[in-house]
Amino acid sequence: MSQKCEICGKVPSVGRNVSHSHRKTSKVWGTNVQKIRVRQPGGAAKKMDVCTKCLKADKVVKA
Ligand SMILES: [Zn+2]
Repeated sequence: MSQKCEICGKVPSVGRNVSHSHRKTSKVWGTNVQKIRVRQPGGAAKKMDVCTKCLKADKVVKA
């Protein structure tokens, strides 16, 4: 499963963890992307990677 949303194009963001002693380690914040079946304009269904924000905003119609 890809970490990219096929609706809004959201991808994981990269940054650093900073500990109390100020040591820095790299960190990736993943996207909450779900593989769901989406209804297409023609009426057919297609599996897509959609982030939960797009799901909640009703940007896709579930098949
Ligand atoms: Zn999205």
